Amino acid sequence: FNVPPARNEPIKNYAPGSPERESLQAALAEARSKQVDIPMFIGGKEVRTDNKSPLSPPHDHQHILGYFSNGDASHVSAAIDAAMAAKKDWANTSWENRASIFLKAAELIAGPYRDKLNAATMLGQSKNAYQAEIDSACEIVDFLRFNVQYMTEIYKQQPDSAPGIWNRVEQRPLEGFVFALTPFNFTAIAGNLPSAPAMMGNTVVWKPSNTQVYSANVLMEVFREAGVPDGVINLFFVDGPTAGEVIFEHKDFGGIHFTGSTGVFQHIWKTIGNNIYKYRSYPRIVGETGGKDFIMVHESSKAKEVATAISRGAFEFQGQKCSAASRAYIPSNLWEDVKNYVIEDLKSFKMGGTEDFGNFINAVIDEKSFDKIAKYIDDAKASDKVEVIAGGGYDKSKGYFIEPTVLLTTDPKYTTMCEEIFGPVITIYVYEPKDYEATLELVDNTSPYALTGALFSADRYALEVGIKALENSAGNFYINDKPTGAVVGQQPFGGARGSGTNDKAGSMINLLRWVSPRLIKETF
Ligand code: GLU
Repeated sequence: FNVPPARNEPIKNYAPGSPERESLQAALAEARSKQVDIPMFIGGKEVRTDNKSPLSPPHDHQHILGYFSNGDASHVSAAIDAAMAAKKDWANTSWENRASIFLKAAELIAGPYRDKLNAATMLGQSKNAYQAEIDSACEIVDFLRFNVQYMTEIYKQQPDSAPGIWNRVEQRPLEGFVFALTPFNFTAIAGNLPSAPAMMGNTVVWKPSNTQVYSANVLMEVFREAGVPDGVINLFFVDGPTAGEVIFEHKDFGGIHFTGSTGVFQHIWKTIGNNIYKYRSYPRIVGETGGKDFIMVHESSKAKEVATAISRGAFEFQGQKCSAASRAYIPSNLWEDVKNYVIEDLKSFKMGGTEDFGNFINAVIDEKSFDKIAKYIDDAKASDKVEVIAGGGYDKSKGYFIEPTVLLTTDPKYTTMCEEIFGPVITIYVYEPKDYEATLELVDNTSPYALTGALFSADRYALEVGIKALENSAGNFYINDKPTGAVVGQQPFGGARGSGTNDKAGSMINLLRWVSPRLIKETF
């Protein structure tokens, strides 16, 4: 059971003038110079239709990067048939061979595909080079390498046996197929959701977000080149309701691996419940959903550190991480300093396209998202409970650009303190230091979510109180750090309450959801 020990893929920094930067810039130029015709990939075959949708960089929406083929219900059925046909051979493939395929996928991304996948993420999802690098290079490689290691650890765990008998656990894949429904905001998550169940011997049908198809296509190329057999991962582009109708009605539906909105996940859960008599097994439901992630600050904290956590935690990738800080509770003794440091940080954040590596802030993902975020900002401007401390501007003429926006509210239950915005907006509530414990309670009961959160304090007693008071408020809890940027193999990621099933992406807990163990007792 020894596999190459998993190591985190080192982050490249693409410094000005470096060969890394030149080669990534060449990949960007190459991608911009052509238009790809992206197929679905079902049962080992590329499938194209006449119903094509264009793909554009969110920061330059008049430029066409290519088109993808929209499928319909028949393509979903074909994907399920292909997954079921491939199932037996794949389930009986040795774990070593499955491991090798995904280790090869990791090496392909770390090496020859790195620029291509980063360029696709930078153009298709408007991530700057650093945000792309930590996602579509490092995190996906880490998911693949660490999951291979966790997989072998799972297979290794065996029960004791008394003399004369031999107990053993056979980690069978689930019966039926697994549905991977993946988000736009992390190419790594889009790659992990189909590959984790596949690694454990399942066959998968995969529907990416329409706004991530451009990099999903490169991931699929990698899986193919790494040797994932035909029918093991089937990629289709079909609208959600149509896909859901076919999948959740199917008797062989075995489980769903999901990252996306809370509303969609709740709807899916209900649909699965309504169809429960149709299935052969209880489907596995694994999902990471919304967040309203907090930064809670004790009066003993350092203002500069808090400010950095706010400007990085709230605005990297335009606040479109599920983990992004979107509400902060600052004691009045620190507020002036925190405010000034944040304003200073924001002045240094340039906004624009990802092709210019000097831009820190890029565009939000699409027009729908832009309009939704702009509405929150407009409402805040009109409210007498809110003051705009920084930003507040937006412009969609060339790309979907929204300035990093800091709101200050006198109402700790104001809309933007409670609702997930999924954009570059953070709301601050300033409290009196004597109200520390009451404010901890507010942090805990202001939103239905519990994904990430950060607590700042230099005072150990105050930390102790805060850690306890917020024990159910965040699945990933950060002390004196921003609440984003979980690293696979170090901080397994996932939230509770309205934020998901907390099956920690990139962990043994997650992989165990994709097996249905058979215990064998043999008597001699
Ligand atoms: N794992 C990411 C982080 O820690 C967030 C994942 C997500 O947005 O779903 O920042």
